[in-house]
Amino acid sequence: MRLDKFLAECNQGTRSEVKVLLKSKRVTVNGVTENSGKRQINEFSDVVCLDKKKLTYQSFVYYMLNKPKNVITATEDSVQKTVLDLIDKKDRIKGLFPVGRLDKDTTGLVLLTNDGALAHDLLAPKKHVEKVYEAKIEGIVTEAEVELFSKPIELKNGEVTKPSRLVVRKADEDAGMSEIEITISEGKYHQIKRMFASTGMHVLELKRLKMGSLELDDRLDPGKYRALTQTEIEELK
Ligand code: URA
Repeated sequence: MRLDKFLAECNQGTRSEVKVLLKSKRVTVNGVTENSGKRQINEFSDVVCLDKKKLTYQSFVYYMLNKPKNVITATEDSVQKTVLDLIDKKDRIKGLFPVGRLDKDTTGLVLLTNDGALAHDLLAPKKHVEKVYEAKIEGIVTEAEVELFSKPIELKNGEVTKPSRLVVRKADEDAGMSEIEITISEGKYHQIKRMFASTGMHVLELKRLKMGSLELDDRLDPGKYRALTQTEIEELK
């Protein structure tokens, strides 16, 4: 594999960060300083050192989980069940963590990985990675909210959101409830609940369906997970 990919996969930074490491002559391959990320190496037999310390190749893992309710998006907790507790011991490798956070009562797609660079890219505000959610709302969501959400809106504490896309799937006047799909490109605390609260509406149920190119596999029952396919991983990067 390429040396820059190897360094990034050993958690030494993003591709552009490892380029800087290489240019600053801190990396050796079999004892010889190497400054080109294009250099092909054998990740299992060549000895790659950073600042004279040997790096061990670590392959990354990527799982998608269908998070159920009443589970927190954390790596450990002394009282509450976490998303990590839903991963089999054999798959729960060191350094595994959830990318981003869903509320305790929110269900759906959670990506877990030990690839810090990918997580950073998916969460970086300036990358505007889109997240798609479906929700049940108490009240009748109309074109007025669709129009309102398509522009920045001010939350109750004065924070302002980026424009989002709201689609009304069903508005049941008799039950006084609506089913919607919403796409946001940021991840403010309780963002969707607070967006609806700013219009006087209450989110009854919330489920994440998509994060960037990654779509929740509808064959995964709540609490179940699977490894990403190679295509899913490549599309996310
Ligand atoms: N918005 C929320 O309000 N909650 C979530 O869990 C995710 C997005």
